[in-house]
Amino acid sequence: MPIPAIILLVTILVILGGVLFFNSQKRKIVDEKQNELAVIASLKIDNIVKWRMEHLRDGEILSNIIPLNRQILNFLFKDNPPELVPELYQRMKIFISNYDYHSIVLVDTSGSVRLVYPASETTPSFNASQIKEMNNPDIRLSDLHFSDDEPDVIHIDLQIPLFTAAEKYRVRAGTLLLTIDPRKSFYPLIQSWPTQSKSSETYIVRAEDDSVIFLNELRHKKNKALKFKMPFRDDLPASAAVTGHKGLFEGKDYRGIPVISYLTKIPDSPWFMVAKVDKQEIYSPLNELILFISIIAFLFILLISVSIIYLWRRQRIRYLRELNATRDKFFSIISHDLRSPFTGINGFASILVEDLEGKDLTDINVDEIKKHAGIIKSASQNAVDLLSNLTEWSRLNSGRLAFKPEEIDLVSLINGVVDLMNTAALQKSIIISKDIPSVLNIYADKEMISLVIRNLMSNSIKFTAPGGNIHISGLEKDNDIVVEVCDTGIGIKKEIIGNLFRLDENITTPGTQREHGTGLGLILVKEFISLHGGQVHVESEPGKFSRFSFTLPVIH
Ligand code: ADP
Repeated sequence: MPIPAIILLVTILVILGGVLFFNSQKRKIVDEKQNELAVIASLKIDNIVKWRMEHLRDGEILSNIIPLNRQILNFLFKDNPPELVPELYQRMKIFISNYDYHSIVLVDTSGSVRLVYPASETTPSFNASQIKEMNNPDIRLSDLHFSDDEPDVIHIDLQIPLFTAAEKYRVRAGTLLLTIDPRKSFYPLIQSWPTQSKSSETYIVRAEDDSVIFLNELRHKKNKALKFKMPFRDDLPASAAVTGHKGLFEGKDYRGIPVISYLTKIPDSPWFMVAKVDKQEIYSPLNELILFISIIAFLFILLISVSIIYLWRRQRIRYLRELNATRDKFFSIISHDLRSPFTGINGFASILVEDLEGKDLTDINVDEIKKHAGIIKSASQNAVDLLSNLTEWSRLNSGRLAFKPEEIDLVSLINGVVDLMNTAALQKSIIISKDIPSVLNIYADKEMISLVIRNLMSNSIKFTAPGGNIHISGLEKDNDIVVEVCDTGIGIKKEIIGNLFRLDENITTPGTQREHGTGLGLILVKEFISLHGGQVHVESEPGKFSRFSFTLPVIH
């Protein structure tokens, strides 16, 4: 695959990974925020319910103070006797200061105010529906409403019904109103937010005709409690709350800004609570995350690209070096190695011709001629070997080498090579022995395996002194065919063994009779055996032995 394509692929993968990671983080952050909203909303609802219950309990306590009730009833029925006022004031004062109410108003059943504590210049007045609500027989809390005596001040009334004490003929006598200033404890309960946030807020609302009215101070609109109304709108969380939507709700708040909200009804009241936070605030950590992911992804892509380019360059340099070494080797063989056997052949052929020139058969020294002919034969065999190595090697390098494996009989192949090599071995008085089974079939390229064995055998002959031994064996071992060529020759130094198969190191040393080589043989051995999926091993002890072996996969 070309480098730009790899880099493009890595970039796409990294970007894809970044997007997936970002999405998972985004979901996590949004989920966390939504949970937080839900938890805060339910905590607040609990507190509001508790707050209402505490006030209703105050009403219970007050309605059970019998002496006070008796005095109040006296006051109502005896048409406001002034002598009762100081004592009533005294009791009301204690109650107000103990329970933190703003004022107490005594109203009769017709809605007329009979007494106000603390005394005030303005007397509250009530319309028909308020009087009807007040005459409800239960202790209850009124809705939030503007105060009669202070402009813009909002109150809630705790309404305590007053009855005559006589159980049987219980008669409604009036109502005691304890006004509560919601700024003191009620609004803080709603408005406080437990975590640091720029846009979070909670507010309570109720329906009023086709609108929703906001009952407390808003974070982004000042002095609007009980004054600010908005017509119902589908995407307005407040209007969704009063029309029955509960839980998470995404929409636009009273400023028209997208928010995520949590909607709840406040039990036993006409109120609904909206806890909301701007979407932008929720998503703001994501901007940092995008920046962070982008930087990491960029650095990662840069690192990978640089590494890929570096590795590619290294590989290319190695390839070019090998190419150079191949070229140099080729020229050196053509110009030098190939020359020397022919120089020998030519030289000894000339001597032969000179020896024979002008002589008749009786003058001819047959032994001399035989010797020179033998030298010519071994030099030409050398040249043939070299040429066949060179041909194979050039085919290997030019990509023209055809790998044609077939089922072959390894036994007869080894026998053939041994027969071929025997003459050269006998010339050096080297004895070749074999240890091969009667049948050994392999699936391989016949020409290549033949060249491999020929090279190993001719090396053994070359590097073994006269009188030495060469042993060739073949056997099946652990699902492999192992062929081994072992000689009692000069051996190989340990430090050279690792470089024998490397063209750039090009190890070649002269044989025991100063035979020249090219260093190509073992490189071909290694290449051909690798093509078959096998391996080549060398073991040697200088001055004692060399053992070359190769493996081939067995066929069954
Ligand atoms: P060449 O024999 O033409 O030099 P090879 O690639 O066949 O090239 O062998 C490379 C070198 O490995 C030889 O020159 C020799 O130094 C060493 N070598 C190979 N086979 C043997 C062996 N049987 N005994 C000792 N040395 C060997």
